[in-house]
Amino acid sequence: MTDHTRVLIIGSGPAGLTAAIYASRAQLAPIVIEGEPSSTTDQPGGQLMLTTEIENFPGFPEGITGPELMANMREQAKRFGADLRVTKVQKLDATSRPFKAWLTDDVDPSITADSVILATGARSLMMNVPGEKRLLSHGLSTCATCDGFFFRGQDIAVVGGGDSAIEEATFLTRFASSVTLIHRRDSLRASKIMQERAFANEKIKFAWNTKVTEVLGEERVEGVLLEDTVTGETRVLPLTGIFVAIGHIPNTTLVTDSLDLDDAGYVKTMHGSYTNIEGLFAAGDVQDHEYRQAITSAGSGCVAAIDAERWLEAQGFSH
Ligand code: NAP
Repeated sequence: MTDHTRVLIIGSGPAGLTAAIYASRAQLAPIVIEGEPSSTTDQPGGQLMLTTEIENFPGFPEGITGPELMANMREQAKRFGADLRVTKVQKLDATSRPFKAWLTDDVDPSITADSVILATGARSLMMNVPGEKRLLSHGLSTCATCDGFFFRGQDIAVVGGGDSAIEEATFLTRFASSVTLIHRRDSLRASKIMQERAFANEKIKFAWNTKVTEVLGEERVEGVLLEDTVTGETRVLPLTGIFVAIGHIPNTTLVTDSLDLDDAGYVKTMHGSYTNIEGLFAAGDVQDHEYRQAITSAGSGCVAAIDAERWLEAQGFSH
């Protein structure tokens, strides 16, 4: 059986769920394909499911945990009638309207949709070393803006040699006693101006030609095992925090053939959330490699729902 919807929302991070709240309050009865829980979470909900404390989402003066914030957003979307489904879109045909989405490998599509809001997010590249997954959110983080505050007066490290790593290391010196930048080569990829800023910062130390081979600690990060990429020598660096900043990948595999992407692979949006495909809107980290915050993502989900609503109205679709 194929369901039809005015708005199909793909993704259940802050962008997807905010779009769901707005679209359902606009009587559009959206279907939200939430994705599936990761190996360490019991619900989908995107990157915030891997975050412990969030202190910068407006409206929560005492802070809130990532999973709690996402659970609240789900409840709010459900309250207005959004149809949330914990499953993945296997295939999306965006070549003609109505758009078609498959949740199974059946021949017939599971859902047809007059419009789609793509809110599939992005994921941080990880080092894939022992201890990394276990200690994520327990001293290991992928977001300095989110978690830097928790490392006041501590000795921490950042892994990577690009603009993100330098930006994060520089930002983290506001809180930490020292930040060791661990980079696998002997020169940085980051822009010159960012490099100079980092070299001039007394709190930043550099571990050149060095890679992390293990993140150490049982309950929380206690150190890292390092290997010299030239000599092969190993050593332990004691730390209480480590930030992995080796790049992000937007989750665009559903539509890469037909959708315009920028040089870094993110969906190109214009005038809000419009993409090059009429009726297909994009929100959240899948189209943003600049800000990547829960609040900016939620804001762009709101924009996408309003854009979709106005576009549907202009096409003459009634509710
Ligand atoms: P990036 O430029 O791709 O840099 C990734 C860094 O991580 C590189 O130094 C790379 O080492 C290292 N790396 C990759 N895989 C690794 C692994 N498995 N283990 C250890 N190290 C690894 O990514 P980014 O820094 O996130 O930047 C992405 C884009 O956003 C860039 O175009 C950047 O200029 C832009 N950006 C700009 C700003 C700004 O202007 N304020 C801030 C952030 C990002 P190698 O160097 O050896 O390859």
